[in-house]
Amino acid sequence: MKMCIACGMPMTQISEYPLYDISKNYCKYCANPDGSMMSFEQKLSILTANYIQTYKMDNNTAKYTAYTILKKLPAWRRNQ
Ligand SMILES: [Zn+2]
Repeated sequence: MKMCIACGMPMTQISEYPLYDISKNYCKYCANPDGSMMSFEQKLSILTANYIQTYKMDNNTAKYTAYTILKKLPAWRRNQ
């Protein structure tokens, strides 16, 4: 079983891969419509919005939390 390198989600089903391509090591939630992987900035803004909505965090806290979590994942460790 693979884990998404960009968000950490375990990928257990073919439907969780971008465009059903199991050679990819990121999930469909981290992919653009064309199947390429989203950028760090894209993931950061999506996750930030998610935290604001789900946990009622303020923008700075949400962004900081999202940043901290993303930086632990293999896709983003070396960037930024
Ligand atoms: Zn993912």
